[in-house]
Amino acid sequence: MAIEMESLKSRISHYCTKYQDQIEAVVSKIHSNPELSEEEIMACDIQCQLLEQWEFIVERKFKGLDTAFKATSGDGHPNVCIMSEYDALPGIGHGCGHNLISGVALGTGIVLKQLLEENNIPGRITVMGTPAEEKRGCKIDLIKAGALEDVDIVMMAHPSDAATSQSTVAAGIMQFLVKFQGQSSHAAIAPEKGLNALDAVRLLFSGVDAWRQQLPETSRIHGVILNGGEAPNIIPEYSLSDFYLRSFDIDNLLSMKKRFLSIAKGAALMTDTKADVKEIANSYKPGKPNDVLNQNFIRLAEELNMGPEWAEPSRGSSDFGDVTYEVPAMQAYFNITDKAKDVVIHSKEFTQCAAVQFAYKQMKKTSRILAEIGYIYFTSEEFRNEVQEGFPFAK
Ligand SMILES: [Zn+2]
Repeated sequence: MAIEMESLKSRISHYCTKYQDQIEAVVSKIHSNPELSEEEIMACDIQCQLLEQWEFIVERKFKGLDTAFKATSGDGHPNVCIMSEYDALPGIGHGCGHNLISGVALGTGIVLKQLLEENNIPGRITVMGTPAEEKRGCKIDLIKAGALEDVDIVMMAHPSDAATSQSTVAAGIMQFLVKFQGQSSHAAIAPEKGLNALDAVRLLFSGVDAWRQQLPETSRIHGVILNGGEAPNIIPEYSLSDFYLRSFDIDNLLSMKKRFLSIAKGAALMTDTKADVKEIANSYKPGKPNDVLNQNFIRLAEELNMGPEWAEPSRGSSDFGDVTYEVPAMQAYFNITDKAKDVVIHSKEFTQCAAVQFAYKQMKKTSRILAEIGYIYFTSEEFRNEVQEGFPFAK
């Protein structure tokens, strides 16, 4: 039976406080032992252990990924899934604060488990551990393996250097490695025998630059040269460059891909070299978060005095984008820098912010919000319908 709103809020707060020490211990251990994408063995294990201790049914190495997991409690539907991330960045540790994402997932998971049990509410809560957001985007592998087939909604929350906000529309991204193969020769004695692979990559950049003016405002394309030759007196026979293409629109992203491949082909033709363009997995789709979940997040963040602001679309990209095409989903943002304007995400300063009391308080408040949204989803058919109506990709 559903409980009254005021009593619901106080039960959520009670459980968040009850489990906060256990959660902080996990979050702080992950923070002080940062593990890179797909190497998050300890972070995965320590979350699984706590979830087992809380009597979730835990599946390790979920869908064949060594550092993924799925923890469930209850059965049937609705199945509300909270996602966890826990990979760190090379050199700066938890500069993206993913340790706190795991904290929100654990907190929301245990609160919802307790609420469902004490009120005899049907349904299932799933905490899903998703590796390698910073690198390969394992959410996409999980989706392909069917991890979300039985899930009704997904929620997640990410720490931020800006104001607490809703899940933003985010850019999709594709990555391409471009190799040009030419022919080396002595640059002074026999330049006519060479085919210059560095010229090819320079022409690729020129072609991309000439194209920029005709791209939609929100598109982004950026590249670097990883190998442009060995010495000035050798005509470079080989070059390697790395490009990212981004857009908020998936059709536009696909047409950008087509043009990019043509430019690479043109650069090869002009230099008589061979182009080999490899698309790197996983491409991320643009993020299309659920508006109803978003509106509720903002409303509840206001209630908890988190000073939320409705954020503009993000130029960044995440494998969470793909999740938003599968089920109604939201990746909200919670500020952890407490008005320190000079601290930016993906910096050592942000790493420091990710394991202090203010961050833990914000993490706890965020769990309270996600738990309340989850509870409403479990108990209100009207709310479930509203969320579903706002989902444009129903199969
Ligand atoms: Zn991140």
